[in-house]
Amino acid sequence: MATTLLSTLSRRLDGKVALITGGASGIGQRSAEIFAQHGAKLVIADVQDELGHSLCQSISSATHNDITYIHCDVTNESQVKAAVEKALNSFGKLDIMFNNAGILGDNKFQLKDSHKDDFERVLRAVTTLFLITGVFLGIKHAAQAMISATNKGVIGGSIISTASVSGSLGGTGSYAYTCSKHAVLGLTRNAAVELGQFGIRVNCVSPFVVATPMAKQFTGVSEEVIEGVTGEIANLKHLTLKADDIANAALFLGSDESRYVSGHNLVVDGGMTIVNPSFS
Ligand code: NAD
Repeated sequence: MATTLLSTLSRRLDGKVALITGGASGIGQRSAEIFAQHGAKLVIADVQDELGHSLCQSISSATHNDITYIHCDVTNESQVKAAVEKALNSFGKLDIMFNNAGILGDNKFQLKDSHKDDFERVLRAVTTLFLITGVFLGIKHAAQAMISATNKGVIGGSIISTASVSGSLGGTGSYAYTCSKHAVLGLTRNAAVELGQFGIRVNCVSPFVVATPMAKQFTGVSEEVIEGVTGEIANLKHLTLKADDIANAALFLGSDESRYVSGHNLVVDGGMTIVNPSFS
C-alpha cells in the first residue's frame, strides 16, 4: 500500500504526453525536467534550438523517457499546429499543453503622455501579439487535438498557460505586458467555459518574479539580488521563489490530482498579492 502510494506520488504524469512552449529555458526548462521525472512523454517547443536539443538529450539520458524537440515560434500558427502534430505523430495523443513561452518587452509607454495611436501601437506590439496570440494559438490547437482524440476514447486534457502576478496587479511595468497577462486570465476563463463540455480543463499559473534568464536580463541584477528583493516583498518570509515552484504548480494542474479544477488562476507569489497594507 505504502509503495503504491509512493509510486503514484512520484510518477504523477505516467502515461501522459505533454507539450511545453518556451521549454528550453527558465520555467519551461524546469517544467520539462520535472514533468519527465514524473513519467510524461514530452515535446519541448522553443525558438532556441541549440538549447532545446541539448535539454532534450540531457532529460532523455537522465529519465530514459521519450522526449523530442521542435522549433516553434508561438506567434506562428503553422508552427504551433506542427508542434501539436509532433506530439500526435510521436506519441499518439496530447494530454497536457503548457503555453509558457513569453517575453517582457519594453517598459517605456506612459499613458498620460500618449495619444490613442500610441496605445494602439502598444496593443499591436510584439509583446502583446506574442503573449496573447501565442496563448490563443496554443489553446486552440491543443483543444482541437484533444477533442479529436475523443473518437479514440481519450477524453479531456489539461491546458495550462503561464500568466503572471502582472495579470492581476498594475504597476509601473510595461503596459503591453500587464494588459497581455490580464488577457491571459480572460482567455483562460473563457476557454475553460467553452471547452468544459469536452472534459478539457483550462487553467493558468501566475508567478511572482522568478530569477530566470528573462528576469535577470530585464532587471540587470543577479539571481541572489532578485531573490533577496522578492523575499522581502512576499508575505512568506525565509523562502525564495524558484522556477521549480512554478513547474510544480503546473505539474499539479497537468496531473489527475487537479481533475476538478478548471478556469483557475494558481497564484505562486508567497502570498504577496493577498496582503492588505492597511492591516499588515
Ligand atoms: P525565459 O526567458 O527563461 O524563458 C522563456 C522561453 O521562451 C525561452 O526559452 C525563449 O527562447 C522562449 N521564447 C521566446 N520567444 C519565443 C517564441 N516566439 N516562441 C516560442 N518560444 C519563445 O523566461 P521565463 O521567466 O522562464 O518565462 C516563462 C514564462 O513565465 C513567460 O510567459 C513569462 O512571461 C512568465 N513569467 C515569468 C516571470 C519571471 O519573473 N521570470 C514572472 C511571471 C511570469
